[in-house]
Amino acid sequence: MEQTPTLPQEIDILIEHGVVIPMDEPEHILYDGSVAVHAGRILAVGPAEELAGRFAPQKRIDARKRAVLPGFVDTHHHCLQNLLKGSRDDCTLADWIDSVSAPRIVMAVGDYLRGNYELQYHATRVGCAEALRSGITTLLNMEWATDPSLLDIYEEAGIRAIHTLTMTDYDQWNRPGMIMPLDKAYALAEALIARAQAAKEGMIYFRYGLACPNSCTTELMQEVRRRATEQGVAIHIHIAETEFEWNNIHNRYGKTPVQYLRDIGLLGPDVLGAHCIWLNEEDIRILRDTGTSVAHCPECNMKIADGAAPIAEMLAAGVTVSLATDSCAVNDNMDMFEAARVAAFLQKLRMKEACVLPAYQALELANVGGARALGLEQEIGTLTPGKRADIILVDLTAPHLRPINNIVNNLVYCASAPHDVVTVIVDGRLVVEDGGLLTMDVEEVYSAAERYIVRRFSEAGLYVSPYYRFQRD
Ligand SMILES: [Zn+2]
Repeated sequence: MEQTPTLPQEIDILIEHGVVIPMDEPEHILYDGSVAVHAGRILAVGPAEELAGRFAPQKRIDARKRAVLPGFVDTHHHCLQNLLKGSRDDCTLADWIDSVSAPRIVMAVGDYLRGNYELQYHATRVGCAEALRSGITTLLNMEWATDPSLLDIYEEAGIRAIHTLTMTDYDQWNRPGMIMPLDKAYALAEALIARAQAAKEGMIYFRYGLACPNSCTTELMQEVRRRATEQGVAIHIHIAETEFEWNNIHNRYGKTPVQYLRDIGLLGPDVLGAHCIWLNEEDIRILRDTGTSVAHCPECNMKIADGAAPIAEMLAAGVTVSLATDSCAVNDNMDMFEAARVAAFLQKLRMKEACVLPAYQALELANVGGARALGLEQEIGTLTPGKRADIILVDLTAPHLRPINNIVNNLVYCASAPHDVVTVIVDGRLVVEDGGLLTMDVEEVYSAAERYIVRRFSEAGLYVSPYYRFQRD
């Protein structure tokens, strides 16, 4: 009997002939692989020859001499600080907070309360532009006062976002102008939750952000915990970032920050803690037992000399660890290959053991680790049929990547995300092609932000680089 020929299935995108690294199992690398994308999701991953016969794509992406990976998941970032790159470096954290960070947070909160959203507008635009150009497809942006209308920027840029509203009510570490009145903060949180829910499903999430145990009262943290549970939203918080915080919490409550947060009922599987440097063995067990996840920010921790987080011990204990860039003022980029590389270097040095945190495991922190930490592992983090199509293509032809003796080692130890990531797809939408951002005019985004910085920071008596005095359009 003659077989009826099956017509190829019509799909949106077929990425063909790449080195496909799905990040589900180390041995699943395909050296001539393809990925089929349709209706925002990954339809199939397999040998190029096999998929070529099955699908008729609207768009073909030639991935020869490209690595095809899940998009990066950056689990801790502050877009506001993208505006502060290089403004003051090589000083103590206390000095940096005082002279660089705090005046801008005061400005963000004050401007928001006056109905002027320009600062956060520019910050969110430059943050999204740099993130996407660096292959970050999911970004946790821990911000101060951001009007809900600014969440439109995530949609226009085409990035998956976890928007986090930072809350604080204790002035030991804060200037008075950094603290938004709590009734206004809770009202804003409600509006942000509604705005996130109105977005295309799975594209924008909201989290409550608690600044840190040092700068929030127990009452605030317990009220946020109560609201988060009731509203079904998650929580993000800086935990045990500095020795200063550890000492303060220990002096105040006679416990470590992690023990204190457990005892007040804050920790849980919906809590993501940034940094988690100053931990003892019991703290690590508490994070594991409560299901609390960690956002590791190695470059920031090194630059401001906070310390080295016990990532090797956390991973061995079964704590969910993800990777993050933290801030362009203390990093100073959004390069997740570099973050993975530095994370590996730092653990090797800490443990005095070169086998610790090998390249594949370091790369896992940057995609699948982030997905797990955010509770999104069913949706993103690996190239698996059925998951959302968040995919990056990395050009393998530049001299700094060659020769390619081991594809994963070369990516982790040689690649530069902003330079080498050439194609980015988020939720099935092509947002970066041939290294160019399709959804935003990058030059317009940056020149508008720079014009704003010069004007607004000068008005406020804040430092403006002499560089801008000599620039002509
Ligand atoms: Zn932070």
